[in-house]
Order: sequence, then structure tokens, then C-alpha cells
Amino acid sequence: MALNLEDLKAGGIISQRQKNMFSIRVKILGGNVTSAQLRKIADLAETHGRNYAHITTRQGFEISHVNFEDVEKVTIGLEKVGLVLGACGSRVRVVVACQGTDICPHALDDTQLLVRTLDERFYGRFGVPHKFKMGVSGCPNACAKHNENDLGFMAVVEPVLIDKESCINCGLCAEVCSGKAIEMKDGLPVFDSTKCFHDGKCIDICPRDSLGVNRKGWQVFAGGKWGRRPQLGIPIANFVATEQIPEMVENILSNYIKLANKRERLGELINRLGMEVICDGCIF
Ligand code: SF4
Ligand code: SF4
Repeated sequence: MALNLEDLKAGGIISQRQKNMFSIRVKILGGNVTSAQLRKIADLAETHGRNYAHITTRQGFEISHVNFEDVEKVTIGLEKVGLVLGACGSRVRVVVACQGTDICPHALDDTQLLVRTLDERFYGRFGVPHKFKMGVSGCPNACAKHNENDLGFMAVVEPVLIDKESCINCGLCAEVCSGKAIEMKDGLPVFDSTKCFHDGKCIDICPRDSLGVNRKGWQVFAGGKWGRRPQLGIPIANFVATEQIPEMVENILSNYIKLANKRERLGELINRLGMEVICDGCIF
């Protein structure tokens, strides 16, 4: 019986230009892989591939030059260390992310928690018109390039002067602000929210704890994509809490499935029909 290469590809078994050779995509969630998993990937590449693995742009691995007869052995080997094959084709793909609050001093929210939340509910889902990608950055430095994804999430905070009395008019908050969003007036900082990057640097630098967090959460971007006609995602919601994100994604996905043509990316649908149609029911 002839192999159905499209079905194999959707399951992470991608045919190569060399006959009967496959590249096995390994799902790595949020860019984190244990040392045991790395060793296993190395072992499998040595035993069944050509002694190397390719690191994908979405933080995964691909073990190439695997004979079709050996695919099952590779899959079983990966399962032994808690790894599964990476989704490909028209499915919800693995969520990419930066390290977030566990590691990065700039991080404003827990990227890995959001990644796990999204993964549990959406990973690998079939029935979407085209590939569907999500990315999570822990602050406006945007290391995970979240806005190149169909849906992107970037952690943000909104600063506020919480204690006027303690402010000593040092001006450090205005100095550190890369958006020039703070002006000192009558000895106190005044914020222009339209210029603010919401990175919280002013709060961190204040020597008197005069500044605090007014709101925090995720800025949500929709419609980003790469490929032949790249475009960046557009912000559609701000300060969304982690627990609100799954419903929001569900809503957008359901509108996308309802309205998009076959092989139309979310961003292309937005270009064609406008943001309102995909965000019907979103939290703004
Ligand atoms: S996006 Fe921000 S939190 Fe994430 S790694 Fe980059 S600097 Fe750190
Ligand atoms: S850094 Fe703090 S103390 Fe200094 S001007 Fe800003 S709010 Fe006031």
C-alpha cells in the first residue's frame, strides 16, 4: 500500500527528497528540553539517522535520514523520555516561548505556565484551515518573536504612582523610560500611556517604591505570519489574565474555522474581512 505522505507529515514524519527517508520532528514545548531527552535525541540520531539533529526555528528538533522501517523505533525511543512527534501541516502547532520568569530578569509574567496552558488545550488540533502558530514573550523585548505567530502573547505591566509622599523627584523613572512616556511635573512623574512600552523598568528603578503596578497581563497579537508574504500580528487586547487566554483563543479559533478558506492563514482572513470578525466575543 502506498504511503500517505500528507498524513505522515501532519504527524511529524516528514518525507525527504531522498527516497524512503524521513525527517522525524520532535516536539519541544516552550523551548525546554531535559538532559535525558537531549541524550535520547542524540542516541536516536546516531542509531537511526546520520548522527545529527536539526534545530528548527520553532524550538524543536528534527532527526533526519530515518528509514521508514525505523520510524516506529524512533517514536518509541522518544516516548521513553516523555517526547512526542511534532505536529505539522494544517494543525495547531507547538507553542514557542522565551524562558520567562524562571530565568530572565526582564520577565514580567510566567511564559512557561501560559505555554503549558495553551498546549494542554490546543496542541495538535486538526480541522483548522491552515497551520496555526502561537508564541509567548515574557516582556516587550519580544525574544520569542510572538508577533510573527497567528496569535502572540507578550507580558506587559502598566505603572502607576502609588505613593506621592515618598517620591523624591529624582527623575530616575523618566530617565530609564525608553518610550519617553514619563515627564516630571511639579516634582512628580506623569505618564503618557500612548508612549509606554509597559516593560515595568520605571517601577524596578524607583528607589522609594513610589511606583507600582496598576494592571498586568498579556498583550495579545493576531494575524502574524512568516513565509512568502510576511506580516506582523496586530495588538487586539491588552492586560489579559493567563486564565482568560484559553477562552479567547477558543473563540478566535472557532471564528477562523468558520470563516477562512482552505489554506488561508488567520492574518490573511483578517486582511480580507477585518479584525472584528475574528474577534467576535474576544475580551478587549
Ligand atoms: S522576551 Fe523579555 S522575558 Fe523573554 S527572554 Fe526576552 S528579555 Fe527575557
Ligand atoms: S524614580 Fe521613584 S522617587 Fe524617583 S521620581 Fe520616579 S517615582 Fe519619584
